[in-house]
Amino acid sequence: MPDSTEWILKVGLRGRCPRCGKGRLFDGFLKLAPSCEQCGLDYGFADPADGPAFFVMMTAAVPITAFALWLELSYDPPVWVHFVVTLPLLLIGCILPLRPLKATLVASQYIHSAEEGRLAGPREAGPASETGASSGQGPNQATGVERGGSHRE
Ligand SMILES: [Zn+2]
Repeated sequence: MPDSTEWILKVGLRGRCPRCGKGRLFDGFLKLAPSCEQCGLDYGFADPADGPAFFVMMTAAVPITAFALWLELSYDPPVWVHFVVTLPLLLIGCILPLRPLKATLVASQYIHSAEEGRLAGPREAGPASETGASSGQGPNQATGVERGGSHRE
């Protein structure tokens, strides 16, 4: 099992099957194939919904729109400037990342659902250290009082 983030990026950027990394994920520009042609993984689980659009909006559309506003307010350019500068920027910035983003999200979805299935119980960062209040330092209420009794170590 390779590092999952590395794996997600690797298959995501190349648009490959998240399980075997060989089969194609897409059956069109953004349409997912029904299943992996190599390992037969059913892509039915994949449902990134608006995820790619959201990420593209945050990473490309917002900065580009901000740039367009800045251009407009700073230089007051004629409209055609926006057509040759802003519009292509928007199209390129929004369409190009869609496919790798979608593939990355699908891969991440696959990896995480696989990991959830593998882990038996909830993850715990460590034992809570509430027991064992400082004894001998001042008059504590905890001295001599046993709480529950099941938490002793
Ligand atoms: Zn596969």
